[in-house]
Amino acid sequence: MDHFPIFLATEGRRIVVSGGGDAALAKLRLLLKTTARITVFAANPAPEIVQWAATGKLTLTPRRFDHGDTICAALFYAANEDSAEDKRTAAIARAEGALINIVDNLGDSQFITPAIVDRDPVTVAIGTEGAAPVLARAIKADLEERLPTGLGTLARIGKAFRNASYALPFGRARRDFWRDYYFNAGPKAMRESEQQVQPALDALLETHLNKTARSGHVAFVGGGPGDPELLTLKARRALDEADVVIYDRLISPEILELARREAVMIDVGKEGFGPSTSQETINALLVEHAREGAQIVRLKSGDATIFGRLDEEIDAIDAYGIGWHIVPGITAASAAVASIGQSLTRRGRNASVRLLTGHDMKGFADHDWAALAKPDQVAAIYMGKKSARFVQGRLLMHGADRATPVTVVENASRPDQRVLETTLATMADDITAASMSGPALTFYGLAPRAAALALTDLPIEETA
Ligand code: SAH
Repeated sequence: MDHFPIFLATEGRRIVVSGGGDAALAKLRLLLKTTARITVFAANPAPEIVQWAATGKLTLTPRRFDHGDTICAALFYAANEDSAEDKRTAAIARAEGALINIVDNLGDSQFITPAIVDRDPVTVAIGTEGAAPVLARAIKADLEERLPTGLGTLARIGKAFRNASYALPFGRARRDFWRDYYFNAGPKAMRESEQQVQPALDALLETHLNKTARSGHVAFVGGGPGDPELLTLKARRALDEADVVIYDRLISPEILELARREAVMIDVGKEGFGPSTSQETINALLVEHAREGAQIVRLKSGDATIFGRLDEEIDAIDAYGIGWHIVPGITAASAAVASIGQSLTRRGRNASVRLLTGHDMKGFADHDWAALAKPDQVAAIYMGKKSARFVQGRLLMHGADRATPVTVVENASRPDQRVLETTLATMADDITAASMSGPALTFYGLAPRAAALALTDLPIEETA
């Protein structure tokens, strides 16, 4: 970041502009929105500038800029549309201590003026350090569309109400009140008329003051297989509102980024927690924070209801009467099967699919191997790397075809995703040889669809 964005207090400060043509006009239209004292030096000022001077919006000195003209000025704009004149005036202003901007000359400017979305007092400044003005304009247009024009009015009325809101306790209660105002009661009142906003705000405060303190709550949220775009909108919203986020090892950093900056982030996936103490510790953390009234997101990879030890956590908080709900997520099997272009079930092949775990707390997990060894069975095996040899042995022992396809998808949906194609006969050796360090899902009975693989092998141009 070469340019650090700040918002400058302009009230009563001097801002000087040299130039009276189109470049100066463009800057002045922006500057006139501020509360600064603006002075323009121009021998031939455009009629608009003369008009603004006549109505007291700025001071016009109808001669060229010279020494002493930027004494006590905070900012100086060289907008002469003449590079020699820009250079001369900027040198003077700089020597007199003003920060200088030369229109259309990024390299010699000390500051740049961003593209601005104005919903005063809400102001969004967009900068690309001169790299892509087109991009800045596109972002501006997009934001202009998205931020309702009434937002500024809401914010202004809200600002005047700040002191009254102190009647609510600091923290969540106050935050809930403002959220309710900006996203619910405020816009609703605004749709009727601006005059409705103040009464709505008064009524809202009354409601929130009467509300008993919000009790703690746990949302068990499925964080999906890793790609943040595979989060549900509900998961995003829950993250956005959480006071405390308790997350597992497989949750990707991009997803954690989505939590509020003030949220307490607790990593319970660290190595060092023994498997049994870990679950107790997690349960205790849930209870402790919920009893303090926190809105907790318990973030689990994939879908929380699949090999997630969800029930133990629900039991723990149920014992204290703490409220909870589940937000479903995309499980690893869904992401992995998508990556190989296959279906988990298919007419005429398999009318059921099993989700298995390779091992559980007590060691390798036992299953109905005889049923699975029959032709055309499909299983998604979670936590199947270490148990590959065991699974392979059991299936072969029960007469499964050695040529049954087996596909392992490591890091499904993540940038480092890898697909290993093998068969029941060689799966254990192949998995060991591939030395996979990321989470991996093993499909028994599924090979990647040929077309899907061929497609990923092609250079990008050819797939289009
Ligand atoms: N609740 C999770 C599963 C937790 S068990 C879900 O629904 O996906 C952890 C196992 O899930 C890992 O050992 C691995 O088998 C699988 N897994 C999780 N994320 C994965 C990913 N991105 N790619 C492949 N397998 C994954």
